[in-house]
Amino acid sequence: MTTVDTTYAGSFIGGAQHRNAGDALDVVNPADGRAFARVAAASAADVDVAVQAAAGAFDAWSELAVSKRGEILGRAAHHVEEHLDELIPLLTREQGKTLRDSKIEITKAIDTLMHYVGLSKSLRGVHTPNLDPGVEGYVLRKPLGVVGAIVPWNFPTTLLCNKLAPALVAGNTVVAKPAATTPLTTLRFAELLADGGLPPGVFNVVTGKGSVAGEALVTHPHVRKIAFTGSTPVGEQIMALAARGTKRVTLELGGSDPMIICDDADLAAAASAASMGRFYNGGQACLAIKRVYVFESVADQVIESITAKAKRLKVGRGDAEGTQMGPMHTDAQRAEVAGQVTQSVNAGGELRAGGGAPDDPDLQDGFFYMPTIVVDPPHDSPMATEEVFGPALPIWRVAGLDEAIQRANASPFGLGSSVWTKDLQSAREAANRIEAGYTWINSRTKVYDELPFGGWKSSGYGKEHGQEAFDFYTETKSVVLGGG
Ligand code: NAP
Ligand code: MG
Repeated sequence: MTTVDTTYAGSFIGGAQHRNAGDALDVVNPADGRAFARVAAASAADVDVAVQAAAGAFDAWSELAVSKRGEILGRAAHHVEEHLDELIPLLTREQGKTLRDSKIEITKAIDTLMHYVGLSKSLRGVHTPNLDPGVEGYVLRKPLGVVGAIVPWNFPTTLLCNKLAPALVAGNTVVAKPAATTPLTTLRFAELLADGGLPPGVFNVVTGKGSVAGEALVTHPHVRKIAFTGSTPVGEQIMALAARGTKRVTLELGGSDPMIICDDADLAAAASAASMGRFYNGGQACLAIKRVYVFESVADQVIESITAKAKRLKVGRGDAEGTQMGPMHTDAQRAEVAGQVTQSVNAGGELRAGGGAPDDPDLQDGFFYMPTIVVDPPHDSPMATEEVFGPALPIWRVAGLDEAIQRANASPFGLGSSVWTKDLQSAREAANRIEAGYTWINSRTKVYDELPFGGWKSSGYGKEHGQEAFDFYTETKSVVLGGG
């Protein structure tokens, strides 16, 4: 029997726990399907308290020197880092991922905070000395005010910090809403940042459902910008809601990243990158290898190699020794992927690995799904046209680069992409023609804080990471200084 921890007040507002008035939400361990904590969900009134706290903290925070904000955030981030041993198992328990993946995630989240702490010392503006004789111009950059950050369950901490870091360094204050199913790590993260010296009200968390707390945040008149990561349909809904009040939005949405493997590629390295890129985090990543297009002449070899890797992966509880892939996050998510696989196989795809839950009697209560490979499903089947948000990979044989690029682009999404080839011309052509915010050439799909990241087409709008992220958390003003 798991005892359910009912001590969570549900929100963290103005530097302290805040007891929400909304319905209780169960937090379930995906490895065994059992609730282990209950969190009071935020009502619209609770969200209002949080937004008021953030608005109240804004003046003092935005008036600090940029480098001072960086210094404070850096110290607070360091305090979070000192509690990694507590955060890692908590994230595994509520999200399902392996302890190793939890460590990678939270370490990356802290790295992102520190990246923007570093940038806080080098932000410079534009000055034009001679617009007209005796007239000069410069560009002021001002924070927006209160930013709402809405985050999904697959990477609760990194996706939060992608928003929090540039928003806070730029002088905004933030109210975050984690996914209803992963509130705990975010609440503890906020508490640790506050203990580490982040002033009250600068960063607040409201937990609860998207349809209640999320919408209340998006529509709150004092929220100037919504930074959203999640699915395309919800992103579109948020964009529509944000139209009232002409709020700023950035949308990091779904993806179906293509990987092209040419016949001259390092095939072993490409197969490894495919397996890693698809099965990492149980396949529940926005940037992931979601469609492979391999040249016909090397296809059998590549398919065999990726299939063998999929079959070797050790599936188990995230907190068990030796587990390489944990459960999926919810039963609903598993059912969605299972449906996409079944339909694509029924339509003619060849199932080469997986295709269902594991047989292991110890894993029957959790939301497990075996690493799955489907070869050549029809190009109009769900695995080709939809985002597959789980551990199932379709692989298609293609005649050559032109067909591969055309197929890669025949998707509503445009988040990431990758190409494996030793030929410089092929690599340049793919990077040039693929419609996506990232193209990796002979490289696994790693996201760098240094480079701007954001989707094209239905994968979203705006950029996170890089110096560019600041553009989405500030307004600029051109100032002309006359000589008269
Ligand atoms: P989702 O349903 O869109 O949920 C994301 C967040 O939005 C959750 O906190 C959710 O709350 C909230 N929400 C739901 N409805 C809302 C509404 N009407 N108003 C305001 N907020 C609302 O996303 P998901 O399906 O759980 O997450 C997976 C998706 O995220 C995939 O499509 C994946 O590709 C995408 N993703 C994209 C990126 C990227 O950077 N591009 C990164 C990671 C994930 P609830 O928890 O209550 O539903
Ligand atoms: Mg959803």
